Amino acid sequence: MGEFDLIRRYFCIPELQTSRRDVCIGIGDDCALIAVPQGKQLAVSIDTSTAGVHFLPEAPAHSIGWRALAVSLSDLAAMGAHPAWFTLAMSLPDVNELWLAEFSKGMADLAQNYGITLVGGDTTRGQLSMSIQVQGYVAQGAAWRRKGAKPGDIIYVSGSLGDAAAGLSIAQKRVADGQLLPSKAERLDNAQSYEARLLDAYFYPVPRFDLISVLSSRVNSAIDISDGLLADLGHMLNASGVGARIDRSRIPISTELSDYFGPEFALNAALNGGDDYQLCFTVSPQRRLEVEVSAEKSGLSLYPIGVITAEKEIRGLEAFTASGFDHFKGCSV
Ligand code: ADP
Ligand code: MG
Repeated sequence: MGEFDLIRRYFCIPELQTSRRDVCIGIGDDCALIAVPQGKQLAVSIDTSTAGVHFLPEAPAHSIGWRALAVSLSDLAAMGAHPAWFTLAMSLPDVNELWLAEFSKGMADLAQNYGITLVGGDTTRGQLSMSIQVQGYVAQGAAWRRKGAKPGDIIYVSGSLGDAAAGLSIAQKRVADGQLLPSKAERLDNAQSYEARLLDAYFYPVPRFDLISVLSSRVNSAIDISDGLLADLGHMLNASGVGARIDRSRIPISTELSDYFGPEFALNAALNGGDDYQLCFTVSPQRRLEVEVSAEKSGLSLYPIGVITAEKEIRGLEAFTASGFDHFKGCSV
């Protein structure tokens, strides 16, 4: 199969080409042409996923496709931008049609949740890797930034942390033991088991676009948690020139995670593990009630974990951080 057949069969398909009025020309020409709506700003982000670095080569192709798109989309969600379309630059060692069909389906299953369209890309031969550039719209001046957190702001996270890191540990152990990683069918069969839910947190992250309308202009600063709470909260604090006091007992940790791995591993996974793609954001105390009521009305849970301080340091996690990090690194399941 040639390059163009491959593109036609796996990427230029209706599941990935929802009809959108802003897309004037999609796949097939030298460029895609997009009509950016009046009054909107374009939010642009790209992420590369390389086999053995960003994903397990043994992972089901469906999850590799879903996840590659999800991690890019999460950056749009972190800035309060609504996703619109994306491009895919892909490098493949060979043409494995079964793999490609599942990969494409994984991307499409996520893309269809948001009506976003694949408008172009590039396909080359090489080590398995994909770069997905996502583009979205945000009202002029309305984007959430990493900077903007102010002393006194409440710090929230949008969901439990550490589950994805735990899922990755379970997956790595399965691979080391020569076991297969769960296919979609197996996931659904075992949807209620703790192990399946932790694996799902890693293999099927969900970008938090549902928070945009709930939080809208009430947020002073925001970031998505891709590298662990400590690292990403740190980026937000640095950008804002402030510090934080964290109440570690309020960091949301799922029952699945703490029951399966124990509380110490769980807290370390939450602080230093990555791949959860929840949002961390700050809200001024005057708007706290408004935000919490709005979230409750939408059926979303928000977790206040601390406050922003003027001193540029993170307090409340000192004792745990150093020893915790080592313990987590050395931990096996
Ligand atoms: P060019 O040589 O002009 O860069 P290509 O031959 O690489 O164009 O690609 C032909 C068309 O197919 C272009 O519209 C391009 O955007 C699209 N395309 C190539 N690879 C992919 C892919 N992996 N996913 C989606 N579209 C793709
Ligand atoms: Mg090209």
